[in-house]
Amino acid sequence: MTSLSVASPFAAAANLPLRSLGNLPLAPVLVVAPHPDDETLGCGGAIAQLRSLGYPVQVLVVSDGTKSHPRSQLYPAPRLRQLRESETLAALALLKVEADGVTFWGLPDGAVPAVDPADLSEASASALAALEHCRAYLRRVLPQTIFLPYQFDPHRDHRASWGLVRAALGAMPSPPRLIEYPIWDWDPNQRQPLGDRYSAWRLDIAPQVALKRQAIDCYRSQTTDLIPDDPTGFRLSPELVANFLNPWEIYLEQTP
Ligand SMILES: [Zn+2]
Repeated sequence: MTSLSVASPFAAAANLPLRSLGNLPLAPVLVVAPHPDDETLGCGGAIAQLRSLGYPVQVLVVSDGTKSHPRSQLYPAPRLRQLRESETLAALALLKVEADGVTFWGLPDGAVPAVDPADLSEASASALAALEHCRAYLRRVLPQTIFLPYQFDPHRDHRASWGLVRAALGAMPSPPRLIEYPIWDWDPNQRQPLGDRYSAWRLDIAPQVALKRQAIDCYRSQTTDLIPDDPTGFRLSPELVANFLNPWEIYLEQTP
């Protein structure tokens, strides 16, 4: 595993260099979201920009998101799952990704199987099954660019989603470009130093940020009191959401 040694770039994010998406191969772009909302929070501006440039965009939502309100009687897991899927489809429709470009994998929220891409010998049976599923998905979509969660995101499902995609890449005829996006490093209390060999850059999304805001607002179960009967329920704080409404998004790539 890569070590962590460089200070977090998030303390002075506005100083990171700006890059454009203009030189991506005109081929399917895949956005991998550990939970229904990560794709919009982390990459909503990029998705809207890619669609306006004519790129086909596919979104893979890894977990079912049903742990956000585990004690709600009004929204038991099957209903919550349905709600979160409908929120995702509404958000992505605004960003011009149609429903047939969205795949809900439905793995358990909070328990996405973890694999170490460098050593699969310790992987559980459920992790190997998830990995095979991921390989089949990548062979079908054949993305040339993948936006995926940051390898060292503080949330385990984000790290596990990274691991599954990374371990499945060998199934592809040519390796895609991997662009990682941070979510929970935006929380100063969870933030980690930047992984060794990573470089961080910004994408200007000023023309897309109003649309991104509307897309984030589609996630009412995560941002409002829509689900009133679980006081322990998850809530994206306005302070956290504000980080995703900058006129730029932050991306991380491993240097060769
Ligand atoms: Zn997440």
